[in-house]
Amino acid sequence: MSELLIRGRVLTFIDEPKGIDDTASYLTVDDGAVFVRDGKIVAVGDYAEISKAAGPGVAVADHRPHLILPGLIDTHLHFPQTQAIASYGAQLLEWLNTYIFVEEQKFAEPEHAAFIAGRFMDELLSNGTTTAVAYCSVHPQSVDAYFTAAEQRGMLMVGGKVMMDRNAPDALRDTPQKGYDETKRLIGKWHGRGRAHYAISPRFAITSTPEQMEMAQALVAEHRDCYVQTHLSENKDEIAFATSLYPDAKDYTDIYAHYDLLTDKTLLGHCIYLSDREISVLAETGAVGVFCPTSNLFLGSGLFDRDRF
Ligand SMILES: [Zn+2]
Repeated sequence: MSELLIRGRVLTFIDEPKGIDDTASYLTVDDGAVFVRDGKIVAVGDYAEISKAAGPGVAVADHRPHLILPGLIDTHLHFPQTQAIASYGAQLLEWLNTYIFVEEQKFAEPEHAAFIAGRFMDELLSNGTTTAVAYCSVHPQSVDAYFTAAEQRGMLMVGGKVMMDRNAPDALRDTPQKGYDETKRLIGKWHGRGRAHYAISPRFAITSTPEQMEMAQALVAEHRDCYVQTHLSENKDEIAFATSLYPDAKDYTDIYAHYDLLTDKTLLGHCIYLSDREISVLAETGAVGVFCPTSNLFLGSGLFDRDRF
């Protein structure tokens, strides 16, 4: 049995905060402690009380005056974009074509994918982020690199290969069948292994044909315990393009609803320009709109109206 008392200023959340003044949702202790036994937290609170309960002779890691808090969770990242963060972009679609789709092609190389995956995980940890949900590239080897790097660091990570079969360079396109087969194989290999969780990841409606959406639909139906991630309503040109590709859909959200991709395990990046009807669909299905403030401000896409959700 291994035991450790971590001493410092402790901040921990008891409940989801209802608002900025909801002081009952968290606990702060100026001279606090986190008591860890065999890698698991067994007590959090006042240092004097916790150390007494822990008994004599327990090792103490004294981090005073620093703050001790739970790991942060990032719910929308692209691991292949690590080296392209903050590349100049006036608009989403132009930015994808000029920088991002060029960068992502490098992830066909397993050595490059492994190198960036290590850097990516270390960068997350150095910022206090211990769990994240991320898109890998279209290449299965990028998913292997991602989960291998997470496993080496004991991190709980969610991710998956992007499925994309149109409106992208040849080197970044799969096909409906290939996207299905590769995703299926990666779920079998990684989902539930250690702390890895798979996210079925059709990138967005613009880069998937209706045939590929049907394959994503089949994957979601066959793997109800996997997460699902895609992008929704980030930029006005994107919305116009996406809805033009699916003329029968009521709106952008209805494209994903039509293929049964909206579940209570679905994370929808951005969600800036949703109508009341679309927000109601999210509420009914339990799908979550993911707020991406740095990206939205950087690309000038718009502001997420949190109160409407
Ligand atoms: Zn994204």
